[in-house]
Amino acid sequence: TSSILLFSLTFFTSFSNPPKKEPIEKRIEDLLAKMTLEEKVGQLNFVVGDLFNTGPTVRTAPSDKFNEGIRQGKITGIFNIHGAAYIGKLQKLAVKESRLGIPLLIGADIIHGFKTIFPIPLGEAASWDLAAIENGARVAALESTAGGINLTFAPMVDISRDSRWGRTAEGAGEDPYLGSLIAAARVKGFQGKDLADPRTMAACVKHFVAYGAAEAGRDYNTTDMSEHLLREVYLPPFKAALEAGSATLMSAFNELNGVPATGNMFTMQQILRKEWGFKGAVISDWQNITEMVNHGYSKDHAQAAAQALKAGTDVDMMGEAYLNFVPQLVKSGQLEQSILDESVRRVLWLKFKLGLFDKPYQYSDTRREKNEIRSRENLAAAFDMARKSMVLLKNQGNLLPLTANVKRIAVIGPLGNNKADMNGTWSFFGEEQHAVSFLEGIRKYAKGAEVTYAQGCDLYSNSTALFTEAVAAAQKADVVIMALGESAVMNGEGASRADIGLPGNQLDLVKEIHKTGKPMVALVSSGRALELTWLDQNVPAILATWSLGSEAGNAVASVLYGEYNPAGKLPLSFPRAVGQLPLYYNYKSTGRMYEGNHSEPGSERVYKSRYRDVPNTPLYPFGYGLSYTTFSYGAPRLSKNSISGNESLTVTVEVTNTGKLTGEEVVQLYLRDLVGSTTRPVQQLKKFQKLSFAPGEKKTVTFTLTTDDLSFWRQDMTFGPEPGQFKVMVGGNSRDVQELPFTLTSI
Ligand code: BGC
Repeated sequence: TSSILLFSLTFFTSFSNPPKKEPIEKRIEDLLAKMTLEEKVGQLNFVVGDLFNTGPTVRTAPSDKFNEGIRQGKITGIFNIHGAAYIGKLQKLAVKESRLGIPLLIGADIIHGFKTIFPIPLGEAASWDLAAIENGARVAALESTAGGINLTFAPMVDISRDSRWGRTAEGAGEDPYLGSLIAAARVKGFQGKDLADPRTMAACVKHFVAYGAAEAGRDYNTTDMSEHLLREVYLPPFKAALEAGSATLMSAFNELNGVPATGNMFTMQQILRKEWGFKGAVISDWQNITEMVNHGYSKDHAQAAAQALKAGTDVDMMGEAYLNFVPQLVKSGQLEQSILDESVRRVLWLKFKLGLFDKPYQYSDTRREKNEIRSRENLAAAFDMARKSMVLLKNQGNLLPLTANVKRIAVIGPLGNNKADMNGTWSFFGEEQHAVSFLEGIRKYAKGAEVTYAQGCDLYSNSTALFTEAVAAAQKADVVIMALGESAVMNGEGASRADIGLPGNQLDLVKEIHKTGKPMVALVSSGRALELTWLDQNVPAILATWSLGSEAGNAVASVLYGEYNPAGKLPLSFPRAVGQLPLYYNYKSTGRMYEGNHSEPGSERVYKSRYRDVPNTPLYPFGYGLSYTTFSYGAPRLSKNSISGNESLTVTVEVTNTGKLTGEEVVQLYLRDLVGSTTRPVQQLKKFQKLSFAPGEKKTVTFTLTTDDLSFWRQDMTFGPEPGQFKVMVGGNSRDVQELPFTLTSI
């Protein structure tokens, strides 16, 4: 409380200038007029909590090396630190001891929770539950703002069609429509209704743009794509996040069509600023301004600084290219002062919007920090989200849910008794000892049953030393639960994989255990789609568990025991073989598509666009996921067979819960435009509804389509529909659909 008192006193004594009643624009101009060139450039320099470390490091104690920089106004903000009291002290330094008293931004990678860790974003996306996803971001904001942070580097909205890319874990999967809705939900969750509310924080939608299309799924790699593909698939989630109000945006590491994203005039100026009218601050990614030299686009850091600033990258994260070169560039006339001023305005605007000028200590509330972090309510939300994220991939013979008849359970595998990997990638504020392991959760739920554990193997190595013990444990069990998959560091940034099967010798372990003939459930954790062909052919029950966060073990056990009926649906296609990648449901038809009815026997094998060894189809399609109950779909109906202009079309389908348990189903609607001035994907998700059904319950589900839903980027690069034939498809996943034709007669 004494610190609160101190902060309030400093607050009241330090703010007489600028006058509070003035509009923000006026206050910004007043400030700008007083700033030296160096102070302006300082507002564009963002540094990590520990300058001497190359990775994100969490700091909670004051570090002298920042103090001088803050006093001199050379630092706009610090990121990946936390602690209300610590941040309060830094803020005081900026407000009281720098010449103009400009407060600091405090950023952090709050990706799926602060101390209460939610499932990784890809896992959350599998819930298709926008309200729960928004709530997850809200809880992350509540906790991290209580820990002193006012800006998160999230959401990541990069579309990923290639699961070799490790950052697939951080996004919402492969679909631009689902990805856009989730992007907007996350922004709303972080930012709430008012940025100046100390329980909300600024969002930073990232990484602009096409970062997820890195060639061969190798992180940071080159991207090259048509403007059509960019506009149809990769840009929409960014647009949605900005329309939802995202205060900032981060530029990407990759080059796009020969120009690094951070200096790309086409994407950063033409699209972002001109077409979309984005007025917020753009933050570079870690040193990606100076990396333009490595790309071979800039001859030195000075040129890189000029190119990035001209493109509208306002803030230099960790590159110090602005700090070191922009003053001289402006003095020598190589860079217009007005370009610099514009960037400074955007940063100051953000600080005003966050309420930092008027209440610089509002994020330094030690009482909130004590009471609101890891609250019972927050943990309950993380538990709810973790249950909603799981996807039941297979459940032969209704092995799940487990019943009281199962008296002896063997939990086997490197993720079975593991806390360290439960939180997943980008969770460095969360403490691993707080995560509930699968074993702990299963023991809690398995009332009366004996639960044993054997590690079997470790996550990476090829040692078989622990196999025998694991086989012995399996032999004594009624049911074996295999806990398999990736560790937290096997996905996320820089964690691309060329082979996306189970790492190490986990599959060999499964094969050994399989020989015991015991009923087996595989829990598969991952931050990407994995290749699970052998498991699919041999293991009766498979549950995709991503990285589920703080409540992982409780959530898994709740699903295994049927307290919760799984309802997640895949937000990305699971391949049969890594060689199929990139793999996605909304592909284009080739010209070679003799679908097996070609007259000459065997000729389709030769002439169709296909591999000789693996089918084109995914193992588990986009939108797929089972339940402990079953759903049947009636024949869909259309309100009319043709529409024109501004008319809309209603699609109705009856869905029935044909099983004995209450369950939820995500009813999905896809569309195909048969002929277009640019070719159209064979399927595009356009609508969905997640609904709960009592046993036997039938619901009439109605979707309304308008010409907006039929629009696309036409050959002349305008966006709109084209008259012609369409197909509407309805079902519980992208593969198992019933289709109906309709016509758009005129526009
Ligand atoms: C990542 C960003 C992240 C930043 C700050 C970079 O390496 O690409 O996503 O926000 O570091 O930690």
